[in-house]
Amino acid sequence: MTAPAPKPRIDTSKAHPARVYDWLLGGKDNYPVDQAVAEKLPSEAKDAARQNRAFMHRASAWLAAQGVDQYLDIGTGIPTEPNLHQIVQRTVPAARVVYTDNDPIVLRHAQALLVSSPEGTTDYIQADVRDPAAILEHARRVLDFERPIALSLIALMHFVPDDADPYGIVSTLVGALPSGSLLVMTHGASDVFPDVADQATDEYTKGGMVLRFRNRDEVARFFDGLDLVEPGLVTGPEWFHDEPAPRPEPSAVYVGVARVR
Ligand code: SAH
Repeated sequence: MTAPAPKPRIDTSKAHPARVYDWLLGGKDNYPVDQAVAEKLPSEAKDAARQNRAFMHRASAWLAAQGVDQYLDIGTGIPTEPNLHQIVQRTVPAARVVYTDNDPIVLRHAQALLVSSPEGTTDYIQADVRDPAAILEHARRVLDFERPIALSLIALMHFVPDDADPYGIVSTLVGALPSGSLLVMTHGASDVFPDVADQATDEYTKGGMVLRFRNRDEVARFFDGLDLVEPGLVTGPEWFHDEPAPRPEPSAVYVGVARVR
């Protein structure tokens, strides 16, 4: 019998993005220090989190409907049902999913991410997106890099400041993917509701976290050299609905899905 893995240490002395996001979604895996930041955020932040998650659901279902059976999800967050593998394995039971996050609280709950369909596989590693080589090395053990992979960076890159080379990171990850792969990305918008974005940035900064919302051009740059699928780079609620789209709610999250040539 192998010894149980040591419990990841959770730092409750400062706020963490995963736990603030969990609070925004109505989850219970957050601490007073996270609540203190979250409660000061503009009321639109809860809508943005919900719209972001709803896009993740629709985009994942769409990918599975295209037959995509390999997924690399970075910045997974605290498990919230349905998680990506639950959505895609409904349509593609043999789908393989690699999850990654750098926050130890996600590792603590990763068991919930690892309950795969019997035909498929799910896997979790704790890693930082700023070390894409380490993530790719691990992912290669689970995914076949000769066949299309969906890479999802959902509400992640606005936690990567300019001096950490966000565009270089995304291009390293995308550059490792074979033709026909897809990049799925969402990113907080600085220019849709600029006052709300500024207020959110201030509160995260005061809470000791980095938040770098970007404007439309800056977000579009992540997709350089890729082919955005319809409807292109839009805000969350405007992206493809199975049913006629409800009247789009105002949203401060840019979303896009693009193919690797
Ligand atoms: N993708 C999920 C969760 C978004 S919250 C969703 O959209 O529903 C953002 C997540 O990114 C958090 O879980 C946070 O821990 C993670 N994160 C932030 N910076 C990161 C980094 N440098 N490397 C890896 N993960 C990071």
